[in-house]
Amino acid sequence: MKKYIEKIWPAVFNLIFPVKCLGGCGRYDTWLCPQCSKRLETTLQPECPICRIPQFDNHVCSACRTQTPLSGLIVLTDYQIPLIQKIVHTLKYQFVTDLGEIMGKMLARKIKSEFTGQIQHIKPIIMPVPLHWRRKNERGFNQAKCLAVSIASVLDWPIKADILIRKAYTRPQARLSRAERLINLKSAFELKRGVVLSGQKVIIIDDVATTTATLNECAKVLKLAGAKEVWGAVLARSQK
Ligand SMILES: [Zn+2]
Ligand SMILES: [Zn+2]
Repeated sequence: MKKYIEKIWPAVFNLIFPVKCLGGCGRYDTWLCPQCSKRLETTLQPECPICRIPQFDNHVCSACRTQTPLSGLIVLTDYQIPLIQKIVHTLKYQFVTDLGEIMGKMLARKIKSEFTGQIQHIKPIIMPVPLHWRRKNERGFNQAKCLAVSIASVLDWPIKADILIRKAYTRPQARLSRAERLINLKSAFELKRGVVLSGQKVIIIDDVATTTATLNECAKVLKLAGAKEVWGAVLARSQK
């Protein structure tokens, strides 16, 4: 019976809530049609992710290097575009793996363009920002993992989705002030025992970054395990 329900449920769900393009064009059967996805194409001015001073690429600038273990941050699009806010919200609160796949593909292209010209002797490891198991049970879905799976498959880079662990059940960052966020996250992450990342380059994937506090905390743990370089990659950077 359970198997039967599992099989039939997506079809029933689709009848009640048919898949429709979030871009508002009225097209069915896709969460984001190619036409509407063009609205996300924007040239973001490269900047240091910490001080946010414009520069020629998205590396952490030399002045900020002492403040973060991150090497840089790749951002797909501008958070001011209403469509990306709608997409991020849908990814977070609904089970939409198909949308995660579409957005993962777009972010993968951006990551690839950021690293062209650099010879990748060792393929970078893709790693999603983990959710605490309790929050994952509540939500049933880690949107960062969904993006990461898509990115790794498009680029044919390795993915390690289960070695970084969220040990503290932190309060949702969005409801906290900047100072509270930093305290909230203190030592929230750890690596699975015995994991060594010597000389590796890691790209941490999340849906949205605000202060980079979450990415910093992840990067700190990864660097302690020997990672040579840790980058972040997100769909957008919110201003809050
Ligand atoms: Zn559309
Ligand atoms: Zn800087």
